[in-house]
Amino acid sequence: MVETKGSCACGSIHWQVIGPMRDIIACHCSQCRKQSGLYFAATAAENSDLTISGDTLSWYVSSEGSQRGFCNVCGSALFWKQDGKTFTSIMAGSIDGPHDLKIGKHIHVSDKASFYEINDGLPQE
Ligand SMILES: [Zn+2]
Ligand SMILES: [Zn+2]
Repeated sequence: MVETKGSCACGSIHWQVIGPMRDIIACHCSQCRKQSGLYFAATAAENSDLTISGDTLSWYVSSEGSQRGFCNVCGSALFWKQDGKTFTSIMAGSIDGPHDLKIGKHIHVSDKASFYEINDGLPQE
């Protein structure tokens, strides 16, 4: 089984996934733009495959039923999850070490900031 690990910028939070991870989705919605300063690039894993350690994880309720997990020391955005879903989105930039994940598509492109273009030829939604 594939094991993937990640952490926040200050190292207070570590996560581990034992199992498959989804292709990365780049989300350009206004919430992701505000929290990241640009856009989110997130993979995802089943909750049952994900272990999170560290006591500095805070959850921000960004919209009804959706929460964004971040380190309350260094501010790193790490997770996104929705009530009733069996998976958690995990920010791809937090992965430590080599991995085979690739960006598969862009979503909420109509909400993206005007100061960058998407030129990679991947599907846009
Ligand atoms: Zn941190
Ligand atoms: Zn988004």
